[in-house]
Amino acid sequence: MLNAPSQSSGFRTIQVARGCTRCPDLVANRQCIVHGYGLNAPLGGGKRVFFVGEAPGYKGGDVTGIPFTRDRSGVRLQQALIELGLSDETHPRVERPWLRCFITNVVRCNPPSNRAPRRAEIERCLPYLWQEIELVRPDIVVPIGNVAARAVFPRLLGQPAMPITRIHARVLRGPAVLVVPMRHPARISNADMDRFVRVMHRLLGGTPPVDTPGGGAPRRGA
Ligand code: URA
Repeated sequence: MLNAPSQSSGFRTIQVARGCTRCPDLVANRQCIVHGYGLNAPLGGGKRVFFVGEAPGYKGGDVTGIPFTRDRSGVRLQQALIELGLSDETHPRVERPWLRCFITNVVRCNPPSNRAPRRAEIERCLPYLWQEIELVRPDIVVPIGNVAARAVFPRLLGQPAMPITRIHARVLRGPAVLVVPMRHPARISNADMDRFVRVMHRLLGGTPPVDTPGGGAPRRGA
């Protein structure tokens, strides 16, 4: 059942899958269901960017209820969003950030011991992702990591995903959206994160960060 976008406490979530009990292991483990979140800061005519991760982390989204917050990978992604102008925040640790993009996960509950979600769990959860994509109507979809790339490629690009190391920061054109895969921020190098930020800056029409002689863009505040 799909609910209308709701506005509360100054942030907006698109609430799908409220009270879902489809995956017994996940229901027993989760602290909350982590819905997609964002598009709560003015878009200003900008492109709609839709990030898709794997599943909420046990130290992060499972506690805060907001995807990619608090834990290391969340803070890394939020930093990149600030650099891209896709977040209104000045600090990546804000736990209810005002975002000009949308962030969600393939699976909405934290799996036990932070393990990877199982194929059956992914299959049961995917309809929620397609509902969110239908509601948000993104211009650019960013699958984060292998699990997300495998989940969205067949539907958005009509082909299976290649390993994320080969497709990181490439711009792939589907019939309805651009897809720009990203290595998972839990494992990404600074150079790969800089490459992703440069590619996205170009797509979003901003001025790309200046390359340093070492090949990476200067870090914020450096
Ligand atoms: N937090 C999320 O919300 N998703 C991930 O894939 C990792 C951390």
